[in-house]
Amino acid sequence: MTENRSSKTRRIAIVGAGPGGLTAAMILAHRGFHVDVYETRSLPGGRNSHLQLGAYRFDVGPTFLMMKPLLDEVFQYAGADSGTHLDFVRLDPMYRLNFADFSINCSSDLEKTREEIRRIRPGHESFLQRFFASEQKRFSYMLPCLKKSYSSLSSFFSMDLLKAAPHLSLGKTVFQVLKGYFKDDDLALAFSFQSKYLGMSAWECPGAFAMLAYIEYAFGVYHTQGGLSELSRAMAEVAKSNGATLFYETPVRSLIVDNGAARGVVLSDGERRAYDDVIINADFCWAMENLVPQGVLRKYRPEKLRNKKLSCSTFMLYLGLDKIYDMPHHAIYMAHQYRSNVEDIFQRGKLSDDISFYVRNASVTDPSLAPEGHSAVYVLVPVPNLRASINWAEQAEAFRARVLETIKRRCAIPDLESHIIEEKVITPEGWRDDYFVYQGATFNLGHQVSQMLYLRPRNKFEEIDNCWLVGGGTHPGSGVPTILESGRITSDMLTRRYKRT
Ligand SMILES: Cc1cc2nc3c(=O)[nH]c(=O)nc-3n(C[C@H](O)[C@H](O)[C@H](O)COP(=O)(O)OP(=O)(O)OC[C@H]3O[C@@H](n4cnc5c(N)ncnc54)[C@H](O)[C@@H]3O)c2cc1C
Repeated sequence: MTENRSSKTRRIAIVGAGPGGLTAAMILAHRGFHVDVYETRSLPGGRNSHLQLGAYRFDVGPTFLMMKPLLDEVFQYAGADSGTHLDFVRLDPMYRLNFADFSINCSSDLEKTREEIRRIRPGHESFLQRFFASEQKRFSYMLPCLKKSYSSLSSFFSMDLLKAAPHLSLGKTVFQVLKGYFKDDDLALAFSFQSKYLGMSAWECPGAFAMLAYIEYAFGVYHTQGGLSELSRAMAEVAKSNGATLFYETPVRSLIVDNGAARGVVLSDGERRAYDDVIINADFCWAMENLVPQGVLRKYRPEKLRNKKLSCSTFMLYLGLDKIYDMPHHAIYMAHQYRSNVEDIFQRGKLSDDISFYVRNASVTDPSLAPEGHSAVYVLVPVPNLRASINWAEQAEAFRARVLETIKRRCAIPDLESHIIEEKVITPEGWRDDYFVYQGATFNLGHQVSQMLYLRPRNKFEEIDNCWLVGGGTHPGSGVPTILESGRITSDMLTRRYKRT
């Protein structure tokens, strides 16, 4: 519906200053809307904010910046230049993958990666070209679909999606698609573990996501100096300079819904503020359960949320060390029994003895994160979300010890513990309680076909008029680039609705 009212008179509240909310804020403010952003925490970014432990600085969540061109576009959309706000470093190698009996450096310079494959699996290097060419084709069909809204049934049957349909590998999983290129299981894993970025198992994740590895190889993986949380800092800066107001430490207690339409927000002190439209960036299921007045929801009422498929969670260790280890910027360690570890997380709901983990040693690239000669090390261990019956209050300490023992052994750094100066742990319960993440499912709703596109909670929220969604819980999905895209899609829909563009 297009309304004959200028955007200047439209008042928009955004609940949450995560990457999704900040994208919408900077674009809509640039277009002249009156934008107020409410954030519970004292700083912008949500899961993409930073943690300061003494003299050490850590990213809370995202550490891999992929599809940088999308980020550049979103800044341009808001009348800004990403390069003047952020100092990007393209990483080469992108990361090191460590299996039980070999390691491989993965580079977006395909010749280097081909050499690495030749070194570990001679004769298999020629498969790389086929993988790259096929996934490039898939990506070219899928990209227009990721940039569109699927908020109406007619948009679901768009030409773009019809054209992409033969390239969706429907009925196949990411691992099956990758086995089609690489005969060797380990190599197939080296290009399919990326489904973990969506908090999913490669044996369950829809085959179309095989393009995630292509995206890394085609566009590279970036770091931003100061950490990836700098992205949120920069977006908040742009939003403010475009005229948005950001209210920190100002939680929204609930939405005001009248006659099926959002009319504003109630703040935690009970103050009611009227708005024409409300954009929800808070974690989708968490917001449905906590922010929408009772009796409003049907499809997403709390009982129904229990049937939704969720991503896994993560156990985090942030370590401030008084030395810098000679380890890569990004290193991923696959459990020796990787498949069994994945089944523990996604099927059995238990903590594996043999864990997979990721270590980010960004101080080798970025001296700003720790004092000279020190380092800020970030460890992420995929674990079941809170639907599994794991008592974290009882198990966290023992699990921390298991994680440290495994790191010491597999990274060959037996003296690790003696160098820890600062430390923080986040368990799945910490994600729920401190970051407002439903069931601690850090990568949001799962990306099963049944929860994608038109079937994912829609950018124009289908249950409440004048209510919109941004962030990992709506289309196109979880992950920084897609979340930025969600902010852009929602902003464009609002702009079209009120500016008749
Ligand atoms: C450990 C981890 C690692 C990740 N790694 C990567 C990676 O390397 N690359 C990548 O692309 N993606 C990664 N992701 C996934 C994803 O990109 C991030 O989680 C992203 O920050 C999510 O953005 P969002 O806007 O959806 O939500 P959030 O960042 O969660 O933002 C929501 C905001 O809403 C606020 N809020 C909630 N309730 C209220 C309320 N009632 N009132 C006011 N404010 C409220 C919250 O405080 C929060 O600031 C990672 C995620 C995690 C957790």
